[in-house]
Amino acid sequence: MRPCAGMRLILYDSASRGNVPFAPADPERVRIYTCGPTVYRYAHIGNLRTYLLTDLLVRTLRFLGYGTFAVQNITDMGHMHQEQLEAGEDKVIAAARAAGKSGREIARFFTEAFFRDCGRMAFLPADAYPRASEHVPEMIALVRALEERGAVYGEGGYLYFDVTKAPGYGIFSGGVLGETTPAERTDERIHGHKKRPEDFTLWMPAEPGREFQWESRWGPGWPGWHIECAAMSIRYLGPEFDVHVGGADLRFPHHENSRAVVMTATGKTFAALWLHAAHLLVDGKKMSKSAGNEYTLDDLVSRPRSGGNGYSPGDFRYCCLTLHYSSPMNFTWEGLEAAARARSRLQGAFRRAALQGTSGEDVAAALRSEFRGAISDDLNIPRALAVAHKAVRPGIGGEVARALAAEWDPVLGVGLLPEAEGDRGAIGARDGEPEGVPPAVEAMARERETRRRARDYPAADALREKIRAAGYDVVDAEGGTAAFRKIPGIGTPER
Ligand SMILES: [Zn+2]
Repeated sequence: MRPCAGMRLILYDSASRGNVPFAPADPERVRIYTCGPTVYRYAHIGNLRTYLLTDLLVRTLRFLGYGTFAVQNITDMGHMHQEQLEAGEDKVIAAARAAGKSGREIARFFTEAFFRDCGRMAFLPADAYPRASEHVPEMIALVRALEERGAVYGEGGYLYFDVTKAPGYGIFSGGVLGETTPAERTDERIHGHKKRPEDFTLWMPAEPGREFQWESRWGPGWPGWHIECAAMSIRYLGPEFDVHVGGADLRFPHHENSRAVVMTATGKTFAALWLHAAHLLVDGKKMSKSAGNEYTLDDLVSRPRSGGNGYSPGDFRYCCLTLHYSSPMNFTWEGLEAAARARSRLQGAFRRAALQGTSGEDVAAALRSEFRGAISDDLNIPRALAVAHKAVRPGIGGEVARALAAEWDPVLGVGLLPEAEGDRGAIGARDGEPEGVPPAVEAMARERETRRRARDYPAADALREKIRAAGYDVVDAEGGTAAFRKIPGIGTPER
């Protein structure tokens, strides 16, 4: 299908800081790169909101008749020095290490957890999920290419990128060289040899005992973070592609630096357009482990609600859809409750309308045009959602209601009608259900459910840890505890 003419898709490009008419090189294959998860922890709801942006972009493009090819990387090698790791700076890793698990096993576990979250959020699967650890030869080749262009210097096995060699450096930071304070500045051992604060590490020597290390012409070592995304985007999309998506917090230094690497090494323009998802706060505060407000999808799903049923991932998805991706989101339980009710109202209205006699043909065209106009206006999903609510006021019924639901839900993914695309995620289906859960584990899960409903969270959490220690995880679903899954290769990861 050719993209529909007449209503141009406009997107806000955060590199040029303006709205631009979308003009991909090949409308049949719009190439998209999204910075993916670091798989040493569960994704929190802020991460999920960022990944939702790619999902909405892809769904919108398909609705408008474009073909897409989306890539999301998985950062699966430890970006920590061995002694930091052993000092237990990351509790999850420290716990897994103490249980004798390797970095690769930990990464595998959290990669699965990520896919499961994607499925529950009804994200359309990407066309490729490259793992950083499987693309180190490409990263080494890229550092070589930078060397040949005179953009690399180093000492003692450390290699740095000289940002003065990068065309247009500072597009995201807006900063003047020498005046910015990149986050990476603190580690003197790594950065002691740098000529200027913006220069960044391309390659580091492997310290004794390091699990993730590779042979290279500079000795055994490991790549810096920014070169990873640069190498994987080139590998899967080429040095020029259509849209780069990521969280606003990655704008600088990560996006600035991956862009600098690709442009300097290839002389090409890298991403034509940049989309950045605004951050998410919880109760007006930044999420953090220490504040106890770094919520995961499981935290939302297992939160009891008055009236029985818990929240579903679809409720959180809906909650995110009520706000434009470029607006910072303040997550509150009240907001989630309101979203869950609104979603249920919308679903109920569509179900009732579908059962009525067919009517409303005359107004459907205007509604369709409004919906298309909303999503074409920099993915204005809140407005599109408002159109959906408007459509099921009295006057529209039967075939018309069913047709609108079938057209719009592939964009919204909130389950307007049972047969429309809803919570079902393509990836989630891959999660194997375990065979034969031991009775003792089942008993613990039942007890946990009782405690949870009584809001005795400490007891419920303790039971969950025991279940995990037995090698299982318990998955909460709408209406109560639903399923178990075997934890592959790992015993008891902490949250
Ligand atoms: Zn990235």
